[in-house]
Amino acid sequence: MFALLREYADWLHLQWPAGEVERLPRVDDQFRTNVDGVYVVGDLAGVPLLKFSVDGGVRAVRDIVERSGPNGATGGDGAPPDDETPYDVVILGAGAAGMAAAREARRQGLSFCVLEARRRFATIKDFQKEKPIYTYPNDMTPAGDLQVSATVKEALVEELEAQTDDIPVRHAEAHRIDETADGLAVVTTDGEHVRAQNVVVAIGRSGNFRSLDVPGEDKDHVHHRLYDPTRCAGHDVVVIGGGDSATEAAISLTEAGANVTLSYRRDEFVRPKPENVERVYELKEDEDGDGSLELMMPTDVEEVRDESVRLSTEEGQTGVRADQVFAMIGREAPLDFFRRSGIELRNDWGEVPDSLREALSGLSWLKDLRWDRIAAFAAFFLFMAAVYSWKDGGWVGRLAESAGAFPFGWDPAAEGTGVIDVLLTSMQKPGFYYTLAYSAIVVIFGVKRIRRRKTPYIRVQTMTLMAIQVVPLFILPEIVLPWLAKNGLLPVGFLDALFPVSEYAVHGRQYWRAYGFILAWPLFIWNVFSSDPLWWWLAICFVQTFVLIPGMIYFWGKGAYCGWICSCGALAETLGDQHRDKMPHGEGWNKLNLAGQVIMVAAFLLLFLRIGGWVWPGSWADAMYQAGLYGEWMGLQLNYSWVVDVVMAGMIGYGVYFWLSGRFWCRFLCPLAALMHIYHRFSRFRILADKKKCISCNVCTSVCHQGIDVMSFAQQGKPMEDPECVRCSACVQSCPTGVLEFGQVDGDGQIVHRDALEASLARIQEQENGSAAPAEAA
Ligand SMILES: Cc1cc2nc3c(=O)[nH]c(=O)nc-3n(C[C@H](O)[C@H](O)[C@H](O)COP(=O)(O)OP(=O)(O)OC[C@H]3O[C@@H](n4cnc5c(N)ncnc54)[C@H](O)[C@@H]3O)c2cc1C
Ligand code: SF4
Ligand code: SF4
Repeated sequence: MFALLREYADWLHLQWPAGEVERLPRVDDQFRTNVDGVYVVGDLAGVPLLKFSVDGGVRAVRDIVERSGPNGATGGDGAPPDDETPYDVVILGAGAAGMAAAREARRQGLSFCVLEARRRFATIKDFQKEKPIYTYPNDMTPAGDLQVSATVKEALVEELEAQTDDIPVRHAEAHRIDETADGLAVVTTDGEHVRAQNVVVAIGRSGNFRSLDVPGEDKDHVHHRLYDPTRCAGHDVVVIGGGDSATEAAISLTEAGANVTLSYRRDEFVRPKPENVERVYELKEDEDGDGSLELMMPTDVEEVRDESVRLSTEEGQTGVRADQVFAMIGREAPLDFFRRSGIELRNDWGEVPDSLREALSGLSWLKDLRWDRIAAFAAFFLFMAAVYSWKDGGWVGRLAESAGAFPFGWDPAAEGTGVIDVLLTSMQKPGFYYTLAYSAIVVIFGVKRIRRRKTPYIRVQTMTLMAIQVVPLFILPEIVLPWLAKNGLLPVGFLDALFPVSEYAVHGRQYWRAYGFILAWPLFIWNVFSSDPLWWWLAICFVQTFVLIPGMIYFWGKGAYCGWICSCGALAETLGDQHRDKMPHGEGWNKLNLAGQVIMVAAFLLLFLRIGGWVWPGSWADAMYQAGLYGEWMGLQLNYSWVVDVVMAGMIGYGVYFWLSGRFWCRFLCPLAALMHIYHRFSRFRILADKKKCISCNVCTSVCHQGIDVMSFAQQGKPMEDPECVRCSACVQSCPTGVLEFGQVDGDGQIVHRDALEASLARIQEQENGSAAPAEAA
């Protein structure tokens, strides 16, 4: 039984890759951070490519000019007019991004200063001798006029230096950025304060090498960079890693005549550029060269010894001779610099130890708490408390009545039939304000989303979500249905079947049941879990849950409902749009995806008990149904209606909105989503990937608010079929090299490119732009 459950869990959720998101500063489309006036560009903005670094540096400076304009005067050489005036912009780091920003600052007439810890273009100068340079994407022209066209390291350094030798660079290492009364101050490690209106952070990742965490790693013959491969000619060398740096190092060492062993923990290369992978395999087969290349995959490094490296293989441990060891397993962003400067990092919600550490040296950690979010959270609960207090005849209702607050001198006891009368009657109940607030948030943040993400897909999807939230989920039950009924425009039989009479309902009938037209069982349970069977609703619910939704999912995936119809999805894609990168990723969280299955099973058990109770009224099934849905256990409301509807959907779902993204409920807990995950496993929908274009930048994974490791699929060129996908299009739209697109596979698993909807939206984009940018096609 346990093995069967395990197999089911693997089939549904646990077989998918579960890579985590790299921690980088949170920046918006204009490279702004949460600290006013501070921008982060280059590698630290997410895409580790020269052209994107140059582009980001220039665009950040243009945004500064757009927002505030230059001071009006500079004192020559980029200096401000006098000692009292701060710089328009201080640029940290003289790499590709920083120098592109500096050139643009000069062109725009800003006063500026570049601070560099080591030397100009230090990262590029550290590349190995004669390293080939790939200027991806080939068809991209970065903003500004700094050219990157060279194809070899030495030529690239020459090209960049020739274009920037007239830009002054100060030797100083930035320690942190402080917010001051009149702007910002960059504090250097020497204690100098450089004042500025804006700061562009372009310090790359140099220096923060990931460690192997094994004994012997600190020995002198272990290196993290390769300068000159010819010095290793004739030596035994072990290279550790499986990305571009490691494969490029292995290639140049072998070509220089070294005997290279490449150790990588996976059994195939997924990260490096195809050119590098191809060359590695060529060299492995080549027996005529001076050097040799052996691949040891999958292997883990256990220990570095003086003349060898111990590796664990699938067969056990083995030793490999090594005069030199190159550990090329990547570099981390300078997270401490960002934390010291109060710059928010994505997926960095577990910072307690840092805050506590700071607390020991004073109470400055208090400023790091997100008071705005705490206030938003408190305001939400106060609002809900007020609404429920009104409902129970509490202080809000009494206050409104005693102040004569019912609008326009309207008498709630009168029974008018005009639209205004109906509206004012609806306004007597708290649910009206809750739905009004919900719909207003969806519309306001929906408009913002459309303005921010200018693709036809987003426009059509967001407008659909807004329209569904406003019309069938608000205007229909609050105004249209009661107005039609009061004016005798709907047959009584129809009303009795769908909206039974109730003495508690303000209009005398349960028009709220109209939510069931959109929200299907078991997300919205109340049209099925009613005291007497509501036959029409039972038929509608059956068709929705077991016919229409599976049909839609078969063609367009679970996102057809979650991303285009559902009101939870509407809030997540609008209010939650800018919090999507807060969804946690990784294996542990993927296991939590199964929580929804447990809730779905509970909903089905209740359904069977409900049917049993109808067939045999007063039986044990009836009693168990009542206890399961409404009962108290040990004095606590441990029943489905409270635990799922109130605690999980309401308190947890909304409570963690600004911390763990707006899709927490949708991903982990929603019982309807859990059912749709099963349907989705039979769907034709996929996100297709052009493996050759993928640069392993992790952007797609980091923007996925369903926690999907999209990059792992893309790196292998496999169609993405994780059932958690809600088709929001963030990964497709954000991919810098246009790797991803929505599509379908046919019954034999063969790719059928592009969904009809996306194809037509892409044509609209082409017409709007003149030509379609690959990354925006969806
Ligand atoms: C081995 C390797 C191979 C690559 N190959 C390619 C390729 O073929 N094609 C391609 O497009 N891209 C390639 N890249 C990526 C490319 O080099 C980066 O995208 C680009 O250099 C990033 O520019 P940047 O300005 O953000 O950072 P960097 O170029 O890293 O510049 C950061 C600068 O900031 C300085 N600095 C650091 N900390 C501080 C501080 N606290 N205060 C002041 N200054 C500081 C550093 O000394 C450095 O000069 C490669 C990268 C590596 C590591
Ligand atoms: S479309 Fe992309 S970002 Fe959106 S849920 Fe699916 S995989 Fe995640
Ligand atoms: S698919 Fe695109 S966004 Fe994702 S890792 Fe590859 S290049 Fe980056």
